[in-house]
Amino acid sequence: MRVAIVGNGILSNLGALYFKKRLPASVEIVLIGPEDRGGLPLVGESTIEITSQFLETELGLAEYLCKNHYPKFGLTYYFKLDLDNPDDRTYSVHCNERGPSNNPPLESWTGPMVRPLSWLLNRFTFDRDIRKMVDERGGIERIDGLVTDVALDGQEGHTLQIKETNGHTRSIKADWVIDGTGRNRLLAKKLDLVIKPEGQRNCFWFWLADFDRSLLKNLNALGPKPPAPGEPFHYDRYYTTHHFMGRGNWIWMIPIKAEDNSELISIGFVSHPDVYEHEVRSVDDFIEQVSKVHPVVTDFVKSGRVVDTQLLRRYHYVVSKVYSPNRWGILGDAAFAPDPLFSNGLAFGTLQLEHLGEMITQDLEGKLAPEYVNALSDALMGPILGSQTAISKWYHSMDDPFLSSLRLTWIEYTYFYMVLPMVVNRCHYQPDRMKLWKVLQFRQDKNPYEIPQALLQARSLFDKPTPEHFLYRGKEKVNLRALDKVERVDEILDQVNEGSTLLGKYTREVVERVKELAG
Ligand SMILES: Cc1cc2nc3c(=O)[nH]c(=O)nc-3n(C[C@H](O)[C@H](O)[C@H](O)COP(=O)(O)OP(=O)(O)OC[C@H]3O[C@@H](n4cnc5c(N)ncnc54)[C@H](O)[C@@H]3O)c2cc1C
Repeated sequence: MRVAIVGNGILSNLGALYFKKRLPASVEIVLIGPEDRGGLPLVGESTIEITSQFLETELGLAEYLCKNHYPKFGLTYYFKLDLDNPDDRTYSVHCNERGPSNNPPLESWTGPMVRPLSWLLNRFTFDRDIRKMVDERGGIERIDGLVTDVALDGQEGHTLQIKETNGHTRSIKADWVIDGTGRNRLLAKKLDLVIKPEGQRNCFWFWLADFDRSLLKNLNALGPKPPAPGEPFHYDRYYTTHHFMGRGNWIWMIPIKAEDNSELISIGFVSHPDVYEHEVRSVDDFIEQVSKVHPVVTDFVKSGRVVDTQLLRRYHYVVSKVYSPNRWGILGDAAFAPDPLFSNGLAFGTLQLEHLGEMITQDLEGKLAPEYVNALSDALMGPILGSQTAISKWYHSMDDPFLSSLRLTWIEYTYFYMVLPMVVNRCHYQPDRMKLWKVLQFRQDKNPYEIPQALLQARSLFDKPTPEHFLYRGKEKVNLRALDKVERVDEILDQVNEGSTLLGKYTREVVERVKELAG
């Protein structure tokens, strides 16, 4: 059997490494893509536990990540109490103050902090190193060129037309085609599968060097602090993905390690054009708009040197299906461009690689059923659509620090008690466990990422939030068993139920607190 992966981006190369490991040696893997990205932007520096679990346990990259990239200690969200007053730097700050306890030790991790569960990637270094690993791995054929067309035929074999970078043209046959062509979306365009969801996004981002890191602390942070040096689970909050929320927009700040070991930071401005009235297309626009709300961020930016800038406008899309019984799959950016608010773009891509690995395995064994292929397509698109819909709605009240803190806490509980243990225990593709995954399938009336009416009503009981309104769940929202590989489905269900109970308790406590404050 021959599997053709079209694209030379991160997911295509990770896919080649993974398939080589997962599939029998008789399966030929061919990667077709140019060295040059052809103007496609390179972004996606913050990994979550799902991504790093794949990189560490499936591909054995833990030591590589530890040596070459910064650790990540979760996500930190800054909700400003008074967005209209630049002089008031009071923020309700929410982060995960500890991770699941059962992560394996890491030889190269010698820092005074707890061993991280995920990583902040320098994507230029990372993508280059992964490509090199593919070449050194051997047994993976690489063709430097563009696929100009594909004649799909799952029975007799697909035919791919290739224009090599050296000018030659040729065609090859393959039993499976995996489209990893990124925003070029080879198959989705050919098959007319692209859907542009209503809520669009614009994003401007840049890298900063030679900055004064201490300026980021120049704010009045409400909420619990991370454990101090010497205490269990101590970490440095700088090494998290920082999110500053605004009116219909938010800013990411992701520390990254330069090749020469100096510090860089990636800073991005994401907005919903229906909710945010301004355009941010340059560093000057960024300084002008952001200084009115978050001078702590712009003071920091002004202290450094801008290295590179990128802009994407109205970039959000999904496809109507990602896999076909006709032996093709659409991977990563070729299939969807999710909102990066929860750093989950690469995570969805790694789930897809596991799906594809399983489908090809079943195909080799002659037992791949069309129903299973379609079920996997739904199993991926359900959580993508559910989380994206909840995030799209969020933009309409992103300026509300209280509601934002509720939405964040809700989604993080859902992630740590439902999504993560299910992924670790393969509920996203193992047939006897997939019924559990259905909890995450998107239904308009019951979206697991959406906060309940009781919390929305609590917000209507007061005018402006005060520091007393906020409830922090830094430690509690992290499920300490989330990384346990369990024997029985019941044990996963226990965690899901525990999460539901905690969400119920959280909801009650929020409502009680608000009522108490309202007198
Ligand atoms: C603003 C923004 C922020 C993000 N932040 C995060 C984050 O913090 N964390 C996270 O996990 N994810 C994030 N993501 C998502 C992440 O960037 C993507 O999931 C990931 O980079 C996609 O990789 P890919 O391999 O699918 O595509 P790409 O890396 O774009 O690769 C596509 C490849 O296909 C090749 N190609 C194109 N056309 C052809 C053709 N016809 N024939 C052959 N080859 C072709 C290109 O040359 C390229 O090599 C973010 C996305 C955006 C837009």
